[in-house]
Amino acid sequence: MINRIVKLTFKDEYIQAFKIHFETVKSKITNNTGCEKVTLLQDANNPNVFFTYSLWLSEKHLDNYRNTEFFNKIWSKVKINFSEKPQVWTTSKISSQDNTPSNSLEHPILFGNSDTLLNKFLQNKLYASVFILVDENTENFCLPVIKQILNKKNINVIKINSGEINKNLNTCQQIWKQLIEAKANRNSLLINLGGGVIGDMGGFCASCYKRGIDFLQIPTTLLSQVDASVGGKLGIDFMGLKNVIGQFKNPQTVIIDPNFLNTLPFEEIRSGYAEMLKHALIHNKNTWNKLAISNLKTINYNQLLNSIKESVQIKAEIVDIDPFEKNIRKKLNLGHTIGHAVETYFLNKDKPILHGEAVAYGIVAEANIAVQKGILHKEVYLEIKNSINNIYDKIIIPNNALEEIIHHCYNDKKNEKKEINASLIKDIGEILINQIISEKEIKSAILQLNEN
Ligand code: NAD
Repeated sequence: MINRIVKLTFKDEYIQAFKIHFETVKSKITNNTGCEKVTLLQDANNPNVFFTYSLWLSEKHLDNYRNTEFFNKIWSKVKINFSEKPQVWTTSKISSQDNTPSNSLEHPILFGNSDTLLNKFLQNKLYASVFILVDENTENFCLPVIKQILNKKNINVIKINSGEINKNLNTCQQIWKQLIEAKANRNSLLINLGGGVIGDMGGFCASCYKRGIDFLQIPTTLLSQVDASVGGKLGIDFMGLKNVIGQFKNPQTVIIDPNFLNTLPFEEIRSGYAEMLKHALIHNKNTWNKLAISNLKTINYNQLLNSIKESVQIKAEIVDIDPFEKNIRKKLNLGHTIGHAVETYFLNKDKPILHGEAVAYGIVAEANIAVQKGILHKEVYLEIKNSINNIYDKIIIPNNALEEIIHHCYNDKKNEKKEINASLIKDIGEILINQIISEKEIKSAILQLNEN
């Protein structure tokens, strides 16, 4: 497989025309050319800049396509509209998996049986020692699934306590201590087998240990499969602030095995579903309609599997283009400014709510702010709010919590100046980044949500 990203910068007058042109040629590019898919993303900061993202079966297919009459025709039509020369990034990363949904620029994301995929990965590498990070739940439910590796030599299991409350420096110290005691060296591997807490913290520990050792993500919750394991964000909570210490670093591979979801409680499935809804809102109406109308309790398992792949793909495409969140990756923060603040508030009150529940709340609250600002139509807001209210329990924020929540919003990592920054929805499939939201708008949104 080969990924190809092309950055195209257009003169003002050709922006609209290019969008329309792209829609008409898209299916022709993917028909009979060996192009698996091609998508278009407009730079959120600069409407003149577009990125085309395409996935090709092989370099040969891409070459063949470049030699077609069709390519020469569209290329000559498009290139006169540029204000700058296109920039191209290509990676040829071979994945032996047939059903790989996304082949990210930095590392493959593999779908399938984790036992088989992990075994295959290890056969091709010579690690001095291998560590598996688990919590009490993933030790119980997930560790037995990767059985082939457990029989190997030099395998060490590191167990920590589950939950966001333990995603902190104390637990990191326990992990580092065990790595040192078991003589982990630069040539060791850490496998993070668990949800987003294990993935974020294990990845962080691996990336700091001896200035960085290899790590694998094997996400075992829906949330970590569709979101936390993709995109290389690692970190821990500190001084009551979520994910405030951390870094960007990609794992060697992500292995997504949907069978792990069989043992996951419904509330955790619902929590992960919030990030899928967020991806759908970022992507388009079609994807949103598929997810929003589903009754999660009776959702068909196959339907969920397809949606997981689609969700991973939506995120992977965005982070491939903007890995360090300078630009369009900020779209993925939809619902997270208020979501994180609400999550932090309840965590500090020792009444933690699940990350996805907080994100679902944040999506509605921030959509309410988008209506207050005249960015979003009220009918679309109501559609989003009603769909989310059908799935999630109501969260009431006490009036005396408003100041604390605002304080957490000011501490959000996304803020660039002293203002509160959020990504706001303009329409389904259209997200505006770097929007300043005021204390008054946040309070008003929360008070309205408390009432209905
Ligand atoms: P989690 O890691 O706390 O897991 C939820 C619970 O499910 C835990 O009790 C865990 O032990 C249990 N569990 C895990 N897999 C199981 C299985 N297969 N069967 C039964 N129980 C299982 O929570 P989460 O929702 O996976 O992740 C939330 C974390 O992810 C937050 O810390 C959030 O900040 C982070 N996150 C990170 C990113 C990112 O880009 N890095 C994105 C979104 C969220």
